[in-house]
Parts: sequence; C-alpha cells; structure tokens
Amino acid sequence: MYTITLIPGDGIGPEISEAMIKVLDATGVKIKWEVENAGEEVYLKEGIPLPDRVLNSIKSNRIAIKGPITTPVGTGFRSVNVALRQELDLYACVRPCKSFKGAKTKYENIDLVIVRENTEDLYAGIEFKKGEKETEELIGFIESKSGKRIRKDSGISIKPISVFGTERIVRFAFEYARKNGRKKVTAVHKANIMKHTDGLFLEVSREVAQRYPDIEFEDKIVDNMCMQLVQKPELYDVLVLPNLYGDIVSDLAAGLIGGLGLAPGANIGDEYAVFEPTHGSAPKYKGLNKVNPFAIILSAVMMLRHLGEFDAANKVEKAVAEIIEEGRYVTYDMKSSDDPNPPVGTQEVAEALVAKIRSF
Ligand code: NAD
Repeated sequence: MYTITLIPGDGIGPEISEAMIKVLDATGVKIKWEVENAGEEVYLKEGIPLPDRVLNSIKSNRIAIKGPITTPVGTGFRSVNVALRQELDLYACVRPCKSFKGAKTKYENIDLVIVRENTEDLYAGIEFKKGEKETEELIGFIESKSGKRIRKDSGISIKPISVFGTERIVRFAFEYARKNGRKKVTAVHKANIMKHTDGLFLEVSREVAQRYPDIEFEDKIVDNMCMQLVQKPELYDVLVLPNLYGDIVSDLAAGLIGGLGLAPGANIGDEYAVFEPTHGSAPKYKGLNKVNPFAIILSAVMMLRHLGEFDAANKVEKAVAEIIEEGRYVTYDMKSSDDPNPPVGTQEVAEALVAKIRSF
C-alpha cells in the first residue's frame, strides 16, 4: 500500500483528478490518497494558497500528484506551482512528448523529452515593483556599477543561473538519456545575448557533456530551436533548458503531439517527486465534465514507473493508446470536425480506460 499526497488543484483539477483515481484503482495497485488541497480556493478560505500541511504531507509521503493550480496574472499570490518546486527542491521538470497513433496533429512519430530546470532563472521570484524605494535603489546601484541607464519607471525581475543549478539539471538530463536508451541531449539557451547567465548554462552543459561520451551532445539557440521543432522535430531527442525556455518549449512540444490534453509531467528532486500535467487549470471548463484527463493520467503512469509499478504503468499506457487510436471515447479537443460520433466527457474517458484495463 502506497500513501500518496493528492492535490486536486483549481479549475478543472478536481475532475481530472477524479478520473485519474478511477483509472489507477482499476490497475489493482493499492494507494491511500492523502488529499491536501492548495491554490486559489484555499487562498480564498484560509488567506494562504500553500498551507504548511500540504508541504508536510509531501515531505512525509515523498510522492505527490497534483492537478493544475491557478496563478493570478500580474497581482495576487505568487505561483503555488513555483513555490512547491522551490520549497521541495524539485529541480528537474521532465515532460515527455510522444505521438499517439490517431491523435489529431500534423506531426507523426514525435518522441521528445523536455528536461526543464525548475528552481532558478526568471522564475526565482526575485522581483522589484515599479516605483518602490528598493527598486529605485537597485536602479541606482546597477547604473553605478554597469554604466548603463535604466528608465526610472521600470519594474525589474532578476535572472539567476548558477553553476550548481546547471550542473545538476544537465547531469539529470544525461542520466535520464542513459537510463532510457536515448541517443542525444540538446542544450537550449540564448547565450549570444545573455552571456553571463545563458552563457554559463552553455559552458557548464559542455563540461558535463564530456562525462557522457556515449550520448551525443549539441546546443541550440532557443529561437532557432523553436523553428527547428516545428520544421524537423524528428532530429531531436532529450532537450535540456533553463526554466523559462523550458516552460515555453514544453507547450510547443505538447502542440506537436496534439495539444496540452496529452502532455504529462514530473517534478523530480533528490528526495521528493510531484507529478502533474503540463496544462493549466482551464477555468472556463471548470465543473463541465468536458476536458481531457489523459495528461494527468499519463502523469500517473510516470508516477507508477517511479514507484517501480511497471506492469500497472504499461497497462494504463496501453489503454490510453488504444482509446486514442479507436477515437470513440475521447474529449472534444481530440475530435475532428468530420467525426460522426460526438466527444465524450472527462469521466466517460476514465470509464472507457477502466473497461480496457480490466479486459487486459
Ligand atoms: P491552460 O493550460 O489552463 O489552458 C490553455 C488552453 O488549453 C485553453 O484553451 C484550455 O481550455 C486548454 N486546455 C488545458 N487543459 C486542457 C485539457 N486537459 N483538456 C482540454 N483542453 C485543455 O493555460 P492558461 O489558460 O494559460 O492558464 C490557466 C491557469 O492555469 C492560469 O492561472 C495559469 O497560471 C495556471 N497554470 C497552472 C499550471 C500548473 O498548475 N502547473 C500550469 C500552467 C498554467
């Protein structure tokens, strides 16, 4: 029996979590779910979006799965997702993007893994608001040290990238490549412009790569990488990126395989692991039993593998692949306009998966 922390999250989070639990139940793996919510609704009730009990639960169980959590844009509380990754030092975000036969997309045979650094870069949360005293002082300090002018009405976000943070994420990417029979790691950066942050990321990536002569290594500038992924995605294998580019390129890669409804993810540290879909809380679909549960279900497949439950993981993945290929019991985002069968709801997808798993 495993005890796993479940954070249902905001918006569509609770309904996709319910679907995921149904599917995991059908595998026969015994799981006790410790439900500890965080996010917007918790903030409205308790005044804080990430109460200590959530972190304590994950620390004691060492493993969690979560639905998406809403982050207010521009104002309000800081991202709970970012806080969780930082508090638990979940430094590696792993997002596999693999084509499923029958999924609605212009691309075939995509098989990419995005490894995103999760704790540094512009997501470090070090920000200075326009017009505040500290911001004016900082502007004065920067001007005196760099000789460059910054407009007085600027806000400032700080982008730290360290040797320590880069070394461990690039090592993680190479170790992942080795364990999973992957051939190549591509480091993605903008070192031509940001010489002391992305430049450092590139330099450390090159050093780490020398320790893995069995895995091919190359680097790409992020804008070129985006174009290459759209034109020739088959040339790429494992990508390792600083936090911000990793976030953006993850959604691009999800688009290649048919959308966010199919993109799972895992946040991994040396002590804890938190699994979650790449997509957000899609508030406009909340409570409508409409959205695609595959991304959280495939995140649960990653979690089962992490636990060593390979047989259960393979069954769920096979059931997902068959349901997608058959194309009958899928949600609106996976239907083409000429399909004579209407889409089904979130829970109906889960029920179809349960029936498949029981039939294996
Ligand atoms: P989103 O991922 O919620 O939605 C983007 C688009 O994809 C929308 O059209 C949405 O309807 C669709 N979509 C998302 N998930 C889907 C699913 N399972 N099935 C079918 N369609 C799906 O991104 P957004 O609108 O930019 O963000 C909404 C909120 O989610 C924001 O508050 C954001 O901060 C938050 N967010 C949270 C996480 C997380 O918890 N890790 C990740 C991304 C965004």
